[in-house]
Amino acid sequence: MPGYNKHRIFNYIVFIVVALILYFENIFSFSSGMLLAICLGFYIGTEFVTPDLDVDSAAYKRWGRLKILMLPYKWLFKHRQSSHNIFYGAIVRILYISVIILGFYYLIFKSLPQEFTFSYVYVIVFLIGIIIANALHVILDKIF
Ligand SMILES: [Zn+2]
Repeated sequence: MPGYNKHRIFNYIVFIVVALILYFENIFSFSSGMLLAICLGFYIGTEFVTPDLDVDSAAYKRWGRLKILMLPYKWLFKHRQSSHNIFYGAIVRILYISVIILGFYYLIFKSLPQEFTFSYVYVIVFLIGIIIANALHVILDKIF
């Protein structure tokens, strides 16, 4: 099983190589805002919202004191099973964290957010960054 740093190195190398190929071959171009959104999503997906949140992994420990929020996730999902599904593993983690964030928002403001200040496109690109990072994690786990 590849360790945390092996996953990180693999993710960043693949991401940079693919991004350079897409850029220099003029296959796909992002605006600077979209590039920032996908890079941020990819970073969060590689460093914090990884499939290995289902065990006492380095990614889990990186949450610091907030790792207590991930305990129910760890209890619910057995290691390398549904959390490591390439299609819905990341979606479940994003939904899980979204529920926590909305819960805190509700506790602080006594209501849910009425409108989004970001463009939905940037949010979707950000989430795609997380999903790509998680897919690369699962692919590397399958290789080793
Ligand atoms: Zn893993």
